[in-house]
Amino acid sequence: MRHAPRRLISAAIIAVLPLLATSPAMAATPAAVQTDEVAAVAEVMRAGEPVVSVPGAENGLSPSEVQNLTTQVIASEVPIFIGVFPESTAGTMAADDVLIALNEQVGLAGVYAVVVGDQFRAGSTSGSASDLATRAFQAERGNGVPAVLSEFIALTTERFAAGATQTDSTGTSTASGVVTFFLLAVFIAVIALVIVVLMRSRKRAQAQLIEVRGAVDQDVTEFGERLARFEITDPAFDENARTHLQRALDDYDRAKRSAQLMANAGHAQQVTSALEDGRFSLACVQAHLAGEPEPERRAPCFVDPRHGPSVGDVLWTPPGMDGAAPRDVPMCRACEVAVIDGFQPVAREVQVAGGNRPYWQAGQHFGGYAMGYYAPFTGVMTGLFMGSMLSGMWASPAYASGMGGTEGSGGFGGDFGGGGFGGDFGGGGFGGGDF
Ligand SMILES: [Zn+2]
Repeated sequence: MRHAPRRLISAAIIAVLPLLATSPAMAATPAAVQTDEVAAVAEVMRAGEPVVSVPGAENGLSPSEVQNLTTQVIASEVPIFIGVFPESTAGTMAADDVLIALNEQVGLAGVYAVVVGDQFRAGSTSGSASDLATRAFQAERGNGVPAVLSEFIALTTERFAAGATQTDSTGTSTASGVVTFFLLAVFIAVIALVIVVLMRSRKRAQAQLIEVRGAVDQDVTEFGERLARFEITDPAFDENARTHLQRALDDYDRAKRSAQLMANAGHAQQVTSALEDGRFSLACVQAHLAGEPEPERRAPCFVDPRHGPSVGDVLWTPPGMDGAAPRDVPMCRACEVAVIDGFQPVAREVQVAGGNRPYWQAGQHFGGYAMGYYAPFTGVMTGLFMGSMLSGMWASPAYASGMGGTEGSGGFGGDFGGGGFGGDFGGGGFGGGDF
């Protein structure tokens, strides 16, 4: 909070306010608080003038008195707002109402004091300043309004400046203390709840990572064992076979590296994508060795992607999708033969909390695992995984979600960090006295 000197604005308001104060229309209907007048003062305060004395006020301050009090407020580094108003500002209401109106119009947390006619009232939006107002009034009333205000600023500074500890002992401050304690308890409860939710979601993400990581490691190991049966210096290899084998070895390294770097279940996609590339390269190596043409690039065997590229589509109902109509499922030669012979091919099962399950029934956290294998083959993605536990993931990549931070907000030092109006304005009542 800064109170930058803005004398020009002050001067302008001082020129306008006498007109408002002596307006016959207003004098004729002195009903509620003159909110226009309070609003004008509030505007000056919001522009950086903490002490404003309305011309025509019975206890109006001289320009030098305003200057001295302003200097004192700025030095205190406490958001204190002091308005000196004529009695007419209150209309048929009391000084308390002017204080409340001023607080509403300024709209900032802080300590507010008003002198309306010969009534002095003060309160704070946080903690309590009402007892300070009463003390300042009783100590300095004989020395006039500026002396009371100066003493009030001094006492307020003592209590509210950053680092100062509150030592309230009056009834009203006990009441606001209860409110403060209650708000603090609510605040702590909310923070605790957020922490619990975050910890749970982190724990769940960790458990999912472990499950998917286990399956991914099995796939990487299986591919490594398969590759180990080939030797790049084998004299039976021609140049093409050697190129494909080198590619497969590179993909294997990439898969291993990606597996080590996995920080969440979704990262499995990088690993299985590398494995899919590698298995296709290996299928090409085998074709060359057998003197056959290189295979068409097809989706991996759906039954178990570790079987390598599929050779055709077979009408089949995957286990766990019972009740669904049989569909065209890409399969390797062995799986295709098994189905044709009336056997159920052995599905790739992964270990999850509920036991062993086919990967397409293991839960959405296996989405990345499946994507890496099948994302380039849209027919598989849109057709086959529908109705499986993975089906929801194409719409919402939940596995890739991150955690955003919240930004802290600036504010006053000392006890005024929180927003909202509590303190004396929350029902504690105001202190002060009548001159
Ligand atoms: Zn297969």
